[in-house]
Amino acid sequence: MTAPVNFTPAARKGDEPCGRRRSYRFREHHIVADEEPDAEPLSFSAECAVCEQFGPEEETSEAAGAWIVRHLKANPEHLTYRERLIRPLRAVPGRWL
Ligand SMILES: [Zn+2]
Repeated sequence: MTAPVNFTPAARKGDEPCGRRRSYRFREHHIVADEEPDAEPLSFSAECAVCEQFGPEEETSEAAGAWIVRHLKANPEHLTYRERLIRPLRAVPGRWL
């Protein structure tokens, strides 16, 4: 994935406590899929492309699709849907620039 650059303040000797004089260093970060044990789970939901209502977040695509069946029964003219996927990501600090 892309490697955006963020900046983090780096205190230097002589900096005033009120922070008037600060310096910043740039640091590379890599955005990766969050596969840590405490990562949020992958989740799916379905959205109606006609009225933009959407179903609850579910753990599987199939479970999210169940909402489409219920929505279609209530709205037989709504035939177009989107799958929404929420994938947890993590910014991993890289080298200082
Ligand atoms: Zn709809």
